[in-house]
Amino acid sequence: MPVLEKLVIANRGEIALRILRACHSMGIKTVAVHSTVDRNLKHVALADEAVCIGPAPGTDSYLSIPAIIAATEVTDALAVHPGYGFLAENADFAERVEQSGFIFIGPRPETIRMMGDKVSAIKAMRDAGVPCVPGSGGALSDDLAENQAIAQRIGYPVIIKAAAGGGGRGMRVVHTEAHLSNALQLTQQEAQTIFGDGTLYMEKFLENPRHIEVQVMADQHGNAIHLGERDCSTQRRHQKVIEEAPAPGITPEQRAEIGSVCVEACKRIGYRGAGTFEFLYDDERFYFIEMNTRIQVEHPVSELITGVDLIKEQIRVAAGEKLAYTQEDIVVRGHAIECRINAEDPETFMPCPGTIDGFHAPGGPGIRVDSHIYDGYKVPPNYDSMIGKVIAHGQDRETALARMRMALDEMVLNGIKSNIPLHRWLLLDPGFIKGGFNIHYLEKRLADRAVD
Ligand code: ADP
Repeated sequence: MPVLEKLVIANRGEIALRILRACHSMGIKTVAVHSTVDRNLKHVALADEAVCIGPAPGTDSYLSIPAIIAATEVTDALAVHPGYGFLAENADFAERVEQSGFIFIGPRPETIRMMGDKVSAIKAMRDAGVPCVPGSGGALSDDLAENQAIAQRIGYPVIIKAAAGGGGRGMRVVHTEAHLSNALQLTQQEAQTIFGDGTLYMEKFLENPRHIEVQVMADQHGNAIHLGERDCSTQRRHQKVIEEAPAPGITPEQRAEIGSVCVEACKRIGYRGAGTFEFLYDDERFYFIEMNTRIQVEHPVSELITGVDLIKEQIRVAAGEKLAYTQEDIVVRGHAIECRINAEDPETFMPCPGTIDGFHAPGGPGIRVDSHIYDGYKVPPNYDSMIGKVIAHGQDRETALARMRMALDEMVLNGIKSNIPLHRWLLLDPGFIKGGFNIHYLEKRLADRAVD
């Protein structure tokens, strides 16, 4: 007997296909919900049932809570998997799913709400013993003198961040007191416009940190484990481009230590499901910045080094099963790296939707491709430009990188522009090959390249 009979996949693209694969391997029937432009998505064709939930704009389809609840009701499904993005971290959605009598594949709505507000998230984590970036410790008031005093205490440079922020938006670095007032005003307006909430907080701006995050998984019986860390320092405009696991240079002792801090925090807040503790890592110390209460784009690198199917575990624990693994079962094997493939111009980074006219996926030992695209597939302009991920695994980092280079050389993707040339260039870059660089590395190399 499967743990659930039928599940709604409330997402699109590669993650929808990934969830479908997990479900079918567990004997769970799937319902694909899609917008009018997404009728031809691969997972829609493979799902047991499909329901059109609205027109192309996300707000009218993938972000429409009533449309998704209705689709769950009419198909007699039992659970909803939100994937990432769209409604994945919307506490109201999780609540509505549960109030309607369905299982939400994710944490409790209260947990999502607490973590969605970065001020309350930091407070909860600080209370749980997780190391945080020195900062305001709470929301900022409108009192400039008070904010100046906070910045003085933290020490410049500081970063002003929106409590409701996400997607790398709603933050501003301030180097001197002269710029503080203006930066506060601008960030507040921006936060109000983008997130509908102008609440701000302040942190020490760490100048050259790495981005290292810890994957956790918890069940509803008080058990929690960590699955090691990922290094996501290859970023452009605060957006991840390449991720790898384990993080170069992190020792097994450091992994065990930060991992157990995260596990303890999960137990303390009654966390349920998959989650990620994001840290900035500077001077051999971890500083918590936020927790993501969902599966992440980069989850495959952790799957490849631990052998755990994170989506399956998410579904199992949501259905009330106990975790299938103890901490001792989790052993890091080899190294994995993921390149996000975006339909965008590799020079200007402008999205390039269009029709794929020739596609050949790479393969061979240690290569995994998570993508919904196929020959003739039309990439619509309405959504995120990411069209898939190539993931390489090997016994060590060098092998994983060599396999990734081969995979990207093998891959054929015609008809649209993609960032594959950017990845191929980066994979030959000496600093990248060395590893362990900070979050500014990619942008610095791009700036150097522009000068050359
Ligand atoms: P979002 O939710 O928008 O992704 P995060 O708080 O996770 O925001 O921060 C995104 C990125 O911004 C980080 O990966 C890092 O590059 C940068 N950043 C955030 N906080 C700081 C800080 N205190 N010091 C330096 N860089 C920071």
